[in-house]
Amino acid sequence: FDNRIYNFAAGPSAVPGEVLKQAADELLNWRGLGTSVMEISHRSKEFMAVYEEALADLRTLMNIPDSYEILLLQGGGIGQNAAIPMNLMALGQNGPKADFIVTGIWSEKSLKEAEKYGVAHLAATSADLQFNTVPPRSSWQLSDDAAYVHYCDNETIGGVEFSDVPDVGNKPLVVDVSSSILSKEIDVTKGGVWFGGAQKNIGPSGVTIVIVRKDLLGHSMKITPSIWDWSKQSANQSMLNTPPTFSIYMAGLGFKWLLKKGGVKAIAKINQEKANLLYNFIDQSSLYENRIAKEYRSRMNVTFFLKDENLNAAFLAQSNAAGLVALRGHKAVGGMRASIYNAMPLEGVQALVEFMRDFERRA
Ligand code: PMP
Repeated sequence: FDNRIYNFAAGPSAVPGEVLKQAADELLNWRGLGTSVMEISHRSKEFMAVYEEALADLRTLMNIPDSYEILLLQGGGIGQNAAIPMNLMALGQNGPKADFIVTGIWSEKSLKEAEKYGVAHLAATSADLQFNTVPPRSSWQLSDDAAYVHYCDNETIGGVEFSDVPDVGNKPLVVDVSSSILSKEIDVTKGGVWFGGAQKNIGPSGVTIVIVRKDLLGHSMKITPSIWDWSKQSANQSMLNTPPTFSIYMAGLGFKWLLKKGGVKAIAKINQEKANLLYNFIDQSSLYENRIAKEYRSRMNVTFFLKDENLNAAFLAQSNAAGLVALRGHKAVGGMRASIYNAMPLEGVQALVEFMRDFERRA
C-alpha cells in the first residue's frame, strides 16, 4: 500500500489498507452480481447474508451472549445520547432518572442530552481536575432510584480511559465505547448497554453499534420516535428504515480483518504496545508532556503538549510533511493528539516517535 500516510485522525480515521483494497476490488462487480453492494436492496438475500455475517462476527469478536441484542443503527453516539434516556430512564424507581460519571467532554454531552428526558444526576466528575483522571470509585454519589449508570470508557478528546469496568452493584451500566470498541477485551455481561459508532476502530462512519441486554428492551417512553426505539428496531432487524448498507458491509470487512489478525485479544496486545511506546517516549522527553493520570491514560488517543507552545505550528507542518497526519489536538484541549486505533500499525507509532525524537533534537 504505497503512498499511504500514517493517519492519526480521531475519527473518521484510518481503515486497514487490506480492507480498502478488497472493497475497491469488488466495488463495481460484487460477488459476480454485476453491481456494487451499495446498489442492492437491504432486504435482498445477498445483503441479508452480509448483515447476518457481520452480526455473527461481532458476536464472536466480543463474545456477546444470546441474552444481548445487537442493533446496527444510524445517528452515532450523539443519537444514542437521546435514545438511551428515552429507552431506559423510565426504569427509574421515582420517575425518569439516571446517574452520570463525567470524565470529559463526551460524557458531559451525554448528561446534557439526557436532561431533556428526566433527571440526569452528576454522580461524579473530574472537571475540577481538568478531566485528567477518573474520579475514584469510592467518591461516586450513586442514586438508589436511578435507572442506570452512564460512563464513557474512553474520552476521545481528553485521552482518559477507564482501566476496568466499574462495579455499580445491580444497576445496569451504559457504556460509551465509541473510541474503544474492539480495541481491548471486555466482559460484555458486566454492562447493560454498550454503544458507539464504527468510524474509529471498525470502518467508515454511518453505522452505530448498540449492544443491549434483552431485558432492557421494551421500557421506552411513549414519546420515543420509532427509529430510536430499541425494541422496535430489534423486532425489525434494525431495518425500520433503510440501513446504511455500505457502512455495514465495510464494518463486516473490518470484523473479518480483525478475526484474521487474531481477534480482540491479539489486537489489544498490539494496542498496549503502541501506547506504551508513545507514552514512554513522552515521559522521558524534555519537550513533550502528557497530563493524564498514569492509570487512566488512553491507549487509543494519546494527548500531549509541547512545553514550548511556540513550536506547535512547526511540529504540525513538519509531521504532516513527513506523512504523519492529523496530529492537532481537539480545539477544546489544544496541544497534540495521536489517535492510534486498531488500524494504526506499530510501525506508524514507531515512525511518529522517531519523528518526535528528531524534532526535539532540532528544537
Ligand atoms: N462519544 C465519544 C467518546 C466519541 O468519541 C464520539 C465521536 N467522536 C461520540 C460519542 C459521538 O459520536 P458520533 O459522532 O458518532 O455521534
